[in-house]
Amino acid sequence: MMIKFKNDFNCCKTVGCKSFGVANSPDYIYKSRRLGYLSIECRACGSNPPWINNLLVNNVLKEKFEYQFGRKLTGCPKCYKYFFITERTDSKLNGFTSAGTQRKKCSQCHSIFTLQNFKNINALKLVLSTIVSHKDMRESIKSTGLSARLYYFYLNKLALILSNFSRLNEENVMERKYLAMHTQGKVLHLDHNRGLYILITAEVDSGYILLQNNNLTSQDLNNKDIYCSLENTVIAVPNVDNIENALINRYQQNMKRKHFEQLLVGELKPITKCNLIYPDKLAYIHFQLLNAFTGKADKYAHYIEHESSLRAATLMASYADIKKSNAEIYYFFPFTKVSEKLQGKDIGWWKDKWFSNEQGAYSPITYKVKNRAADVKLPESDSVDLFYSYLNQHMNKGVNSINVIDNLSEIHRVIFNYCDLKNKTTRANSFGVTDKIYTSESLLDDALKMIMAG
Ligand SMILES: [Zn+2]
Ligand SMILES: [Zn+2]
Repeated sequence: MMIKFKNDFNCCKTVGCKSFGVANSPDYIYKSRRLGYLSIECRACGSNPPWINNLLVNNVLKEKFEYQFGRKLTGCPKCYKYFFITERTDSKLNGFTSAGTQRKKCSQCHSIFTLQNFKNINALKLVLSTIVSHKDMRESIKSTGLSARLYYFYLNKLALILSNFSRLNEENVMERKYLAMHTQGKVLHLDHNRGLYILITAEVDSGYILLQNNNLTSQDLNNKDIYCSLENTVIAVPNVDNIENALINRYQQNMKRKHFEQLLVGELKPITKCNLIYPDKLAYIHFQLLNAFTGKADKYAHYIEHESSLRAATLMASYADIKKSNAEIYYFFPFTKVSEKLQGKDIGWWKDKWFSNEQGAYSPITYKVKNRAADVKLPESDSVDLFYSYLNQHMNKGVNSINVIDNLSEIHRVIFNYCDLKNKTTRANSFGVTDKIYTSESLLDDALKMIMAG
């Protein structure tokens, strides 16, 4: 793995502190209970960020990393193992297998590999059509005439094909001077009180959905690490007309938690053969994975939901870039009612400095320079909400399997980016990965062409 993920999250999370992001600082008191919850205490700044089970985060991180960036169908399997992380290498045609499939030879390591050849394209098309028409699972399987086993086999292939198409396109445009992203967490409810917490990140100018991760894992977990709560501590959007009062109210809600990063999302009944982790742990994983994208940009800004657990996780993922002044992190709270403008007002327990414009309120987390945030603009700030609505509407609510949920989520991410129209263009058009406007059928055609060409 060429990208270096942070593997110790028990660090000081106070941006101005000399121990900010430092692992094993002599300033720390490990597993402190000074404030009534398990924490790492930083004597340099007096903060007590909640204790994080590093092993749990690292194990689930590996699983999600393989799913998001490792399932590639093209290129040299030895040199080019992961999207974004390893460089694509050249290869030359190298005859055919006895079954008639094209072989290629890697120009760098001289490994010989075979290109993907999808024989039953009709089955892929049938499965795709059931996903777009969002029938229930039994009906979907029946309408394709496939056995259940084959239906899920082709569903997995379809997710791989569309995901690979999308990642290959993204690789072509990720290298840039500047990247701005917007991340929010959402709860997706399924039938029978099942459900999941998802973190979704969009590129700000196009609204293109770069990454989504849910809190399901195939890992065996200790009981205390398995999400199990009836409590809901999601910060509700206060129904007030004044932006300052709305923010004060949000901080007050946050203070009612046992500790400020205790994000609970109500009852989520377990899904078969997998476990749910706590949303705050998913945050550490999701933001680390975003480094695959930010690693390609010279500088970046990240606008995150006003949620303490996301703040801590973003800071841990970006701390090296923050120290080099290559990353800026902001809270963003959408608020479009006419209200008095905030111009660097201190609000809340931590005295965060808030600014506002017609889109909402912003608070720079990584620096405290006055008026720096006054001209912040998020052209597609509603994109995460729109994708969540799309997913909520299209996701099959009867699903009770981590693989099917992951596959459907990924297929919907790609369809939303490449097919969903906004002012006659798609987010993929605005993101610069394609000039074409796709239907789900033409998307599959082009994805197959790209992947079978290697
Ligand atoms: Zn500190
Ligand atoms: Zn190679």
